[in-house]
Amino acid sequence: KKNLIIFGTRPEAIKMAPLVNQFLKNHRFETRVCVTGQHREMLDQVLDFFDITPDYDLSLMKPNQNLYNLTGEVISGLKPILEEFQPNFVYVHGDTTTTMAASIAGFYSGAKVCHVEAGLRTHNVLSPFPEEMNRQVTGRAATYHFAPTIKSQENLLKENILKDDILVTGNTVIDALLESSNRVESLQNEEITHLQEKVDFNKRILLVTGHRRENHGQGFINICAALKYIAEENSSVEIVYPVHLNPNVLKPVNKLLGKVKNIHLVKPLSYPSFVWLMNKSYLIITDSGGVQEEAPSLGKPVLVMRDTTERPEAVEAGTVILVGTDTQKIIKETQELLDNSETYTSMSALHNPYGDGKACQRIIEFVSKL
Ligand code: UDP
Repeated sequence: KKNLIIFGTRPEAIKMAPLVNQFLKNHRFETRVCVTGQHREMLDQVLDFFDITPDYDLSLMKPNQNLYNLTGEVISGLKPILEEFQPNFVYVHGDTTTTMAASIAGFYSGAKVCHVEAGLRTHNVLSPFPEEMNRQVTGRAATYHFAPTIKSQENLLKENILKDDILVTGNTVIDALLESSNRVESLQNEEITHLQEKVDFNKRILLVTGHRRENHGQGFINICAALKYIAEENSSVEIVYPVHLNPNVLKPVNKLLGKVKNIHLVKPLSYPSFVWLMNKSYLIITDSGGVQEEAPSLGKPVLVMRDTTERPEAVEAGTVILVGTDTQKIIKETQELLDNSETYTSMSALHNPYGDGKACQRIIEFVSKL
């Protein structure tokens, strides 16, 4: 049987890498990888670390790339590949433009579309941001749905997707994390040397990441105000912030936080260096989906700078707290976790609701039986 695995951004690459590598070892399948290059530099770092060489590269990252062109170019770019390779299964991941467009192309080709990380929902279809629409459209185009949790399975059942076409797998991000954490423990590379020179690791490290469109503009201004206040009030902490390359993020962050002594703005880190840094952190403040799924496996509490979430499991399990982009709320919850060791210890000891690192194995067993 023939598999075509398609992805385009950093988080998709991290979460698909263990699936690619396990499929490549399985000789019952011929597996090829296509990247769209929706993120370029950040994607290539991940491919390097997981030692993946794509069979096809659409290289669609262009200055000022927009969603109209990207969607069209993914679909038309995949056409000759799908026609030539004729895969039985097309795998897409998550909720990006690459995911949505590739699922449509896969559907047109007649392949069975397999959606990895299926069934996440905010149910806010009127949101001007594309993720929820991308998830729902992909859900319609897909034949098989690999849901990370029971809750995501329930979301799909409510949309009349057949139970037999859904498999609850856990999230493949945990597979990637567990595979990497041994390799990362004694890691030394240029990024880490640079961090060790700049940052005082004897202090408590607050790790920050943020990129979401819904936070562009006022959201990032509020976030920066909170981080500045926290840094200035707490000389015993170091804030390390790998800043996303999107100019809507890069510009305000550099302007508002560039000169604060104990805030260290660095470039996005390669995945292994980022895992290394998560391990060294006291607390993580983020709007990232993947980071809030990974951090509980490392025993790190997470404050999530979003008002809604398609990942309610972590909020219910108590491993993350939603703080939105309200400056005062970010400050208050951060200060609580800095000052109250009981709150901190109980939060960091909680069980990760996102899986056990065997998601890919379950997916492969399921597809093998089809
Ligand atoms: N990550 C990384 N380098 C960084 C920041 C994050 O490799 O500087 C990884 C992180 O470990 C996680 C993924 O990128 O697996 C999350 O990506 P992102 O936050 O961009 O997207 P989201 O998960 O919100 O879709």
